[in-house]
Amino acid sequence: MLKATDFSHPSLFILAIVICSAVVIFRYLLVAGTFYLFFYGWNPQRWASRKINPKPHPPGQYRKEIIWSLVTSLIFGLTGAVMALGWQKGIFKIYEDINHFGLWYLPVSILIAMLLQETYYYWLHRLMHHKQLYRIVHRVHHDSHIASPWTSFSFHPLEALLQAIIFPVILLFLPMHPAAIVVYLTIMTITSAINHLDVEIYPAGFEKHPVGKWMIGATHHSLHHKQFRYNYGLYFTCWDKWMKTESPLYKKLFSEKTNKAS
Ligand SMILES: [Zn+2]
Ligand SMILES: [Zn+2]
Repeated sequence: MLKATDFSHPSLFILAIVICSAVVIFRYLLVAGTFYLFFYGWNPQRWASRKINPKPHPPGQYRKEIIWSLVTSLIFGLTGAVMALGWQKGIFKIYEDINHFGLWYLPVSILIAMLLQETYYYWLHRLMHHKQLYRIVHRVHHDSHIASPWTSFSFHPLEALLQAIIFPVILLFLPMHPAAIVVYLTIMTITSAINHLDVEIYPAGFEKHPVGKWMIGATHHSLHHKQFRYNYGLYFTCWDKWMKTESPLYKKLFSEKTNKAS
């Protein structure tokens, strides 16, 4: 007999895709919308000195970015449904008893997942900048020459799929609690909005700080959208530093944008 939550049943699997997609869409609109209103909507003049590119976004850019982001959300929703199905079938290392590894393990598992995703994304991103792949897979994201909070999920569906595939792969090996997975995916959404904000929000000296120098922000990622051949990272600068692909302009631009800020 069919169990009420057997996700391998087609209608329940489709329902899981719909629910997961709705959650991803809601989180994208909430996060990108909040950043947009705060930095562009209410009093953009307040952030003028921290705006990385002085030019405004061209007309129609936000509409295109939101449409691509909604398609991305459907693909992320599909991945979510696959993860729910795999969880039910016992394929993944998802555990339900929070005391199984202890509370300390929750942030540690999130950090490990971010570092694994960082490694995958850095090399995928470099691959996507090869001429042939770039035209098919990655150009949509770079259509936004000046990024905006709405750019954060603006990917070609193939790129969205390549990005999403790492989550179930990580869960094959890394034990994670569902709460840690939700926090991890929310961090991903928020940091993507921060990196595409085109307004530097981190404090002066962050680029040289022992912790800050390893973190990617709006200045770092805006240079990727402008220069193409530098700053391929997602959350952390480690791979760009090790592979010598960090933009030589980064520290100077960061200092310019943060030191003259009020
Ligand atoms: Zn790129
Ligand atoms: Zn980007």
